[in-house]
Amino acid sequence: MIKKILSGTTCAKCRMCCIFDRYDVWETPLFEEKTMEKVKSACPSAEFAKKGGGYVLNVGKMTDDELFTCPALSETGCILGDEKPFDCRIWPFRVMELDGCRIIAVSSLCVDVHSQSHDSLRTFLKEGLAAEIFAYADKFPEAVHEYYDNYSVLLFENEVKY
Ligand code: SF4
Repeated sequence: MIKKILSGTTCAKCRMCCIFDRYDVWETPLFEEKTMEKVKSACPSAEFAKKGGGYVLNVGKMTDDELFTCPALSETGCILGDEKPFDCRIWPFRVMELDGCRIIAVSSLCVDVHSQSHDSLRTFLKEGLAAEIFAYADKFPEAVHEYYDNYSVLLFENEVKY
């Protein structure tokens, strides 16, 4: 979905968005039932909890230096391939809520994308992805997180026609 601005090779080399510490574990994706079942059949120890119309990973309590690896991550990358959760397909973009408005923001953890001109990222989003992201947020409001300041705000919903 974001191959135009981030090469598949660069993305595959980095596992940053699939491994979480206690501070960013809230970023684990929302899974739809079909993908949740697929992860469970490949990794029966994976635990999920229902959240709205989807499922989230049951991570449990984490200590300061502990890392949580998404159970869908294998030696060769995500076992879900093109069926990975929408949150993963659009990362490092995220739909968030800021001062009562929905926004799209970009994570500073993805250096490759975050270092691109934010004007060019806005243009890219307005070509269609922003509309898809807000439509997804309508379908799964539980995927909308409160604004987190490790992200840079790119677009407010009222700037996007969809
Ligand atoms: S579902 Fe796949 S892409 Fe998403 S966090 Fe897990 S391993 Fe990474």
